[in-house]
Amino acid sequence: MKIIIRNATIFDGGSTVYNNTSILFDETGILNIGKYDAAQHAADAIIDGTGKYVIPGLIDCHVHMSTGFGEGGAASSGAEAAFLAREVLNYGITTIRSCGNGHDADIEVRNLINKGYIKGARILASGKGICITGGHGWPMCFECDTEAEVLKAARTQLKKGADVIKLLATGGMGTKGSNPNAAQLTEGQMRAAVEEAETLGVLTAAHCTGLEGAKRAIRAGVRSIEHARLDRCTAELMKEYGAYYCPTIITRYNILNSTDPNLAWLRAKANPQDLVEKERAIRLCLELDIPVCASTDSGTGPLCPLGPSTAKELAIYVEYGMTPMEALRSANRTAAEMLRIEKETGTIEVGKSADLLLLSKNPLDDIKNLDTLICTYHKGVLAYQKYKEMQL
Ligand SMILES: [Zn+2]
Repeated sequence: MKIIIRNATIFDGGSTVYNNTSILFDETGILNIGKYDAAQHAADAIIDGTGKYVIPGLIDCHVHMSTGFGEGGAASSGAEAAFLAREVLNYGITTIRSCGNGHDADIEVRNLINKGYIKGARILASGKGICITGGHGWPMCFECDTEAEVLKAARTQLKKGADVIKLLATGGMGTKGSNPNAAQLTEGQMRAAVEEAETLGVLTAAHCTGLEGAKRAIRAGVRSIEHARLDRCTAELMKEYGAYYCPTIITRYNILNSTDPNLAWLRAKANPQDLVEKERAIRLCLELDIPVCASTDSGTGPLCPLGPSTAKELAIYVEYGMTPMEALRSANRTAAEMLRIEKETGTIEVGKSADLLLLSKNPLDDIKNLDTLICTYHKGVLAYQKYKEMQL
């Protein structure tokens, strides 16, 4: 079905804004961007975009579609992942990278979506991660203590079709008894996984709370560094190695601001200084031109739900020094480049997938205007609409 949104303000996801411009698309992709011409742009549906805004669908580079360790088992984890893959479209998120699932439910759900059995966002999935014995996230990981064991685990995930190999470079907040700052996998162990993944062009991501583990991961060639607070030395190392940064600030923000007594143990591990250091990290990335990818670590519990957390994360980036355009770019072009899907999505260009959001207010004026989402198109198909009676 050919759809045209006419006379809208369009942000392309990089650095270009088109005023009073129309966009024609269908399930095969974006067909035309230009001035509205009814004769030339024969469409099955016309949406008046006057006074409205179009941006690319958001990409969240670090989520969990259920971690797959807790209660419930594989079937429950799969059902949860399938639900969330659909749910995120209601928040304008058209692509997610799942960074760890103990039952590989994210890989299975991705396969079901790609086969057309269920509907959902584009998923890049890691399935099980790789950690040391008893390391952070061990219930959703292979526990490996040698380079050979890491290599075996990486190959096992590659055989299953993982899009990303998730490495646990340090301890973490979410594993009881774990020291978040302690380095875990060695540089050599991570390099073994990176070299194997890169032979297939598969992504690597390293959970890094402490900086020693982050430095090991960067030197090992891991593509994206998750969570780390970053000091100048570590940031410069990222710049040297061309690593991407996935900040995941909203999780920590919500932990520090929660009042739930059941989460007192988690709150006690979080230091308010962490947010100061996260702000420093964002400002260092801006100064050194290190690519930042929108990422939330959402889906790990009630404190950080998958869906609404992504826009809140972008608002924090703006609070910490980004312009709204830079924040959006972190969830559009930069994220797509990191995920190596920039030929497919991440920007509004002819030939790319029609992953489009229509908004009633301009997110470039105020990033919080992301909450004025009217509808989401994913691969050219209407995937969410706010007003059921809206003429489409
Ligand atoms: Zn995570």
